[in-house]
Amino acid sequence: MRIASELIDEIVAHAREDAPNECCGLVAGKDGAATRVFRARNEMASPLAYNVHPQDLLRITNEIERAGEELAAIYHSHTKSAAEPSQTDINLAANWPDPVYLICSIAEANAPVVRGWHLSDDAVAEVELSITA
Ligand SMILES: [Zn+2]
Repeated sequence: MRIASELIDEIVAHAREDAPNECCGLVAGKDGAATRVFRARNEMASPLAYNVHPQDLLRITNEIERAGEELAAIYHSHTKSAAEPSQTDINLAANWPDPVYLICSIAEANAPVVRGWHLSDDAVAEVELSITA
């Protein structure tokens, strides 16, 4: 998946603002490239888990559809752990296996990491992110 570094920066900024809670949001895309980042509320307001607030999910997916784009990714942050999916993340993704799951780790404050994952049928596979200028 191609994603501009400025979109990665937006996700990192959101992660930092919502810490110590996890943040979450959606990424629109077109033709295999991310186009826009949409912040959403973490319904769980928790440092250990997230759930995209259903009102935000509806509003944002409608907006993406109206713009003729697609839902490319769902992102959330890990404030204390690596950018790898937890068992909770894998379980949650079972409901919606299509998008790429981006995880932003700010466990090392000065070295944020964003990685992408396919989470489906209990299979975890990393998705290569091609970060463009
Ligand atoms: Zn997680």
